[in-house]
Amino acid sequence: MSLDGADEEVGEVGGFGWYGMMNFGSGQKTLEAFREANREVGYVEPLDDEEEEYLGDVYGVVVFEDSAGNVEVEYYDSKRDLEENWSRIQAEAEEFYNTGYCPSCGDEMKYRQSDETFWCKKCRKRWDRDEITDY
Ligand SMILES: [Zn+2]
Repeated sequence: MSLDGADEEVGEVGGFGWYGMMNFGSGQKTLEAFREANREVGYVEPLDDEEEEYLGDVYGVVVFEDSAGNVEVEYYDSKRDLEENWSRIQAEAEEFYNTGYCPSCGDEMKYRQSDETFWCKKCRKRWDRDEITDY
């Protein structure tokens, strides 16, 4: 299955992992998107009855992909569930990208928007994002 064009995305495959949120808005639209995705990848088999029935209740999905090429799809049957989970993923991504470890002493550091560096309280040193490998 390949569903292109996430409505919103966060993260990177090589770091936190990539998350794409697709807000179809109704079960009918979800079904259409999956039918089209099936056609695009050239599946001869249409969705079976069980899949049609299941997807007909799906409001939106979140697709996850990691650097090992694992892809997972989470299905949400309401706007509220989709939005709540998407907010949680965004918060986790922000935490992930705004936390780093000092290359010198290993202490946890927080990203500072003000000067766009990581600041180690212990060493009193600033680090650029690209100097931090393990974040
Ligand atoms: Zn340090």
